[in-house]
Amino acid sequence: MMDEKSKELFKRAKKHMPGGVNSPVRAYGAVGHTPRFIASAKGDRITDVDGNEMIDYVCSWGPGILGHAHPRVIQKVKEACELGMTYGAPTMREVELAELIARLVPSMEVSRLVNSGTEAVMSAVRVARGFTKRDKIIKFKGCYHGHFDGLLVKAGSGALTASQPDSAGVPVDFTKHTLIADYNDKESVKRLFEANKKEIAAVIVEPVAANMGVVLPDKDFLPFLREITLQYGALLIFDEVITGFRLGLGGAQEFYGITPDLTTLGKIIGGGMPVGAYGGREEIMRMVAPDGPVYQAGTLSGNPIATAAGLETLTILIEDTSIYERLEQKGQALAQAVRKAAGDKVTVNQAGSLLSIFFTSGGVHNYAEAVSSDTAAYADYFGYMLDHGIYIAPSQYEAIFVSDAHTEEDIDKTCRLLENYWNQMN
Ligand SMILES: *Cc1c(COP(=O)(O)O)cnc(C)c1O
Repeated sequence: MMDEKSKELFKRAKKHMPGGVNSPVRAYGAVGHTPRFIASAKGDRITDVDGNEMIDYVCSWGPGILGHAHPRVIQKVKEACELGMTYGAPTMREVELAELIARLVPSMEVSRLVNSGTEAVMSAVRVARGFTKRDKIIKFKGCYHGHFDGLLVKAGSGALTASQPDSAGVPVDFTKHTLIADYNDKESVKRLFEANKKEIAAVIVEPVAANMGVVLPDKDFLPFLREITLQYGALLIFDEVITGFRLGLGGAQEFYGITPDLTTLGKIIGGGMPVGAYGGREEIMRMVAPDGPVYQAGTLSGNPIATAAGLETLTILIEDTSIYERLEQKGQALAQAVRKAAGDKVTVNQAGSLLSIFFTSGGVHNYAEAVSSDTAAYADYFGYMLDHGIYIAPSQYEAIFVSDAHTEEDIDKTCRLLENYWNQMN
């Protein structure tokens, strides 16, 4: 594959941009390749500046559930642009989007639009603290909730004591209220509640973890979180920035039948534009300004272009009632191809159109098991797929995203390549 133009652009990019990119994982650091600079994308194909057309399983890290440049979404965005890009004043589409969110995700009785998933989580945590008048938050090792200070943490030396920042530039004081538990480990959560009675504002969790690779919740894990938060008067926050509208119209909370107090959305809800949302039970969300004392604002929040893209994307998802069935079938086809070819050399975790191949045997249920994956083996597999025109995430810890635009032919082609990859190794 030619990558001269990408190499040239990367050289220029590194001079004036940190790592040559505007978000770290794009730099391909973990797999030792030059990132492809993208020129265009349509349907399930993405084309780089050297003219390589690839089948895209990154889907912009989640938003692209309909594939790229869906004609109906493009049309709505064009129409919206003609009417002005932003007013900083309320519009009809924001009302329609809030109504639609409440209908599809009934726990989100009242919601607020923001401009990213990070902003949604940051605001939801603030609301949880304002509502409960408590400071501490429990998060799970390996779950990602955006890059704001309070949640960029790793466990301290004693798991029950204050956590350490996971980034330079974050004061220890800013993370001392964040406690870390292990995903799927009920005891680790119980211990934190017992040691911090009446101090915990909320437990925040990715109901299906998708930022340490895809890790599914054990059957009783989410019900347990619902129960223990109720018992201690803490709120349960589902970070559905990835799972929202991906595991189904009602997200993971509908899929698993658990009602959280607050939910964060992002990615799909913007239909490719920068949008996030947080919301929940009316009594909690009335805390938000100007109804209540929790301040949160945004110059471009709910802007007309982004809401047009989001509304049309959700409308298409609602109208096409077999879309999630098709996504599940494609996700299963890919998972089965790998399981068949690789046997117990790998662990494949799959939920609908989200899946991960871990280069470890014996299952992956938490962060420790996820990081036991052989990342050098992942890099080799990544290089093979890229050479054969399959665009996957340059990191073991990012999911494979399947979209409705992935054709049966392209899924078949990918399955055959996956089989070939493991067969040539034997
Ligand atoms: C992507 C992501 C975020 C952050 O969203 P941004 O739009 O990148 O700020 C938060 N939570 C989860 C679960 C995510 O996957």
